[in-house]
This record gives sequence, C-alpha cells and structure tokens, in this order.
Amino acid sequence: MDIGILVIGNELTSGMTQDTNSSFIARELHAQGWRVSAVMIVGDDRDAIKRGLDYLLEISDALVVAGGLGPTEDDITTAAVAGAFELDLYTDEAVLQQLKGRFSSLGIPWTENNAKQAMFPEGADIIDNPIGSACGFLQDRDGRPVAVIPGVPAEARKMFSDGVISIFRDKIAYREHVAKRTIKIFGRTESRIDQTLSHEDLEILGVSIGFYPRFPETHLVVTSRGEYRERVEENLRVICERIEGKFHRYIFGYDDDTMEGVVAALLTDRGLTLSVAESCTGGLITDRITDVPGSSVFLERGVVTYSNTSKVELLGVPASIIAEHGAVSEETAVLMAEGVKGVAGTDIGLATTGIAGPGGGTEEKPVGTVFIALSAGEDTICRRFLFRWDRRRIKEMSSQIALNMLRRFLAGEEID
Ligand code: AMP
Ligand code: MG
Repeated sequence: MDIGILVIGNELTSGMTQDTNSSFIARELHAQGWRVSAVMIVGDDRDAIKRGLDYLLEISDALVVAGGLGPTEDDITTAAVAGAFELDLYTDEAVLQQLKGRFSSLGIPWTENNAKQAMFPEGADIIDNPIGSACGFLQDRDGRPVAVIPGVPAEARKMFSDGVISIFRDKIAYREHVAKRTIKIFGRTESRIDQTLSHEDLEILGVSIGFYPRFPETHLVVTSRGEYRERVEENLRVICERIEGKFHRYIFGYDDDTMEGVVAALLTDRGLTLSVAESCTGGLITDRITDVPGSSVFLERGVVTYSNTSKVELLGVPASIIAEHGAVSEETAVLMAEGVKGVAGTDIGLATTGIAGPGGGTEEKPVGTVFIALSAGEDTICRRFLFRWDRRRIKEMSSQIALNMLRRFLAGEEID
C-alpha cells in the first residue's frame, strides 16, 4: 500500500519556507503501516500540480495533497485538482455560511474572495478544519482516495491526524504491520557496518536498515514489515541479533538510550561514585553526565582544570611532571585522573587533556592529540588519540570516548 505526498506552495519551491508538512505526514503514514511512494513539492502552478497528481497517482494507491487552500489569488490548489480530474467546482452553501459566521464572530469584515474557500470539486467530501478557515476535501480518483488539506502546519497536522488517517483506514483495507528498533553504535562507520550486512537476507525477511550518522555515533534504524505481526516481530529480532553478533562491542544502546544515560545507569547499578577532571573537553563530560536525572547519586564533582596551575593546585599533579612531560601527556593525564579521584574520594576518576588547536601543536604532539585516563581502585589506564577535526568535534569525540571507556569498564569489557 503506497501513498504519495504532494505539497504545494511557491514559498516551498523558492526555499523561503522549509517544508515540514511532508515529513510529518510521512512519519504518521509509516506509523500506521503504510508506505510512502514519493514526496513531491511543486509551486502554486496549475500545470505543475496536474503533472504532480498524474505522476503520483501512477505509483500510489492514495494521495495526500497539502497547501494552497488559502483565500488569496496565488492559492489555486482546489481549482487545479478539479481541472486535473476534469471536474467542475461548486459552492458548498453550508461551508459558505459557516465561513461568514466565523468572520463575523471574529469581527473581520467579509470580502468576496473568501467565498473561494467554500468551493470544492464536484463529488468531494468535505474534511472539517476545526482550527482554521480552509476546509479540506476528499476526492475519489478511480477508487483511489485523494485527500487535500491546507498547508498551515498546525492545521495540516490536526486535519491529517484527526481526519485523513481515519478516512484512509476505512478506504484502504490493507495495512502492514511495522516493528522498529534503533541500534546505537559508536566506533564503527556506516559503510563498514553496511558492508557486513547481507542485503539479500534483509529483502527476504522484509527488513530494511536506515543509517543515521549522528556525530560521533551511528544509529541504525531496523524496520520490519509484513502481513503478520508475529512474523514481523520475529524477523526484526533475527536481524537485530545478527547485527548484535557482529557489532556487540560497538553497540552502546537502543532506541532512546544516550551514552551518558547508559553510563549513569551502570554507575547507579553498581553503586560507584565518579569525579571528573577536564582540560581539553572544558566541562563537556560533566555537562553530559548532569543531563541525566539522578546523576547526583554518583557524580561527586567535575572540575575544569585548564591551566597548569589548576592541575597542580586542584588535582595535586606535581609541577615537575608537567614541566618534564608537558600538560598534554600520558603522565599528566594519569595523575589528573588519580588526583581528582583522591581529592574527591570517589571510586573512579576520569580525566582528559589534549590540544584542540588550531594552534599549539608540535611535531611530537600535533593538534588533535588527546589523552584520556580512567582511574579505578589501584588501576589507571590511559589512551592516546589523534583527531583531525575542529575544536568542537574534538571536544565532542573526546567526551564520547571518555564516557565509552567508562561504559566498557563498568560493563566489564575490554578497553582498546
Ligand atoms: P497555504 O495555505 O498553503 O498557502 O499555506 C499557508 C502558510 O503555511 C504558508 O505561508 C507557509 O508559511 C505555511 N506552509 C505551507 N505549506 C507548508 C509546508 N509544506 N511546510 C511548512 N509550512 C508550510
Ligand atoms: Mg500558499
């Protein structure tokens, strides 16, 4: 069951207004178990609207058309749809009276151009607009329903959700069952993941995978569709298990999980406390952790020790170590993690130090060099990284790796 979406408006084709209606409608259709055949944007132009309707009807079982139902000269959708389907327009007296009543109750003088909003193609069923003046309509085209609604986003959403969906449910017998799961991966690129998945198997099982890179993570949305609910859920489970088998080490969560949320849950579960000493991440790790409700249970403190002096004063890193090895060094990172852990009296200390650039690099330690250290009990581990991006991305990646190191440590996994 394929449904086409046609959005209409010169403001959309000129790029002055971003089309948000089609993505809303598409999401709602997907949630109902229907597929979207295509999304098309055309201007307020009779010929373009006719061609759009013709093309979409060729590849769809139903259409949603949004936009161009206003009273002004440029809004021509009703007339264009009537023209394309070779239908005359008529004035609906009830809608006309309702419109006039609305105007007088709002104290707006009635002008004749508004009568246009009471005109519909012959044979149309009117779709009420509870929050605006432009009613929509439903037109049957050779057994395929075509629903036309206004473009004002609030009205389009309300009328689509409250009106069009139930109309389509009545008219379109076949709906697929849909089951979805988002798998959140860190440390593997989408091309690398894609390469290892068998597209043949996916097709046989009716499962598709969407890649959504969200720096520095990759989210896989696995969608299973089909006629029978149990089969759909089983197929989703089979494919998710295969992905887990291959990428287990890189999967940190599912659906609404966040890296900081997963780390927070692990710390809370294990009853362990944390302190953080941040140099190059400037507080980003602590910021992310404190986004999680209830983080006060395990987070004792987060300090931004940006200068050498602050590393000495607040963390007890010996000045001689910084002088000898540099503020950006394994030795300093280790002593920062151990220092904050000791000062705060926590189970775990986490620290970052690096050169975010664009200046400050040397041949031995180029811009993008970052050390991340984790200290727990008697043990401290430290890893060195070299990133190539701008300051913001280096901070984001460093905070992500630090949190991921902590996640792996808490989950009892190996840290590479
Ligand atoms: P219309 O009734 O189609 O002329 O649209 C009225 C207003 O709704 C326009 O001025 C736009 O700002 C907005 N609008 C129309 N279509 C869309 C769309 N697809 N996405 C977002 N806004 C829209
Ligand atoms: Mg318009």
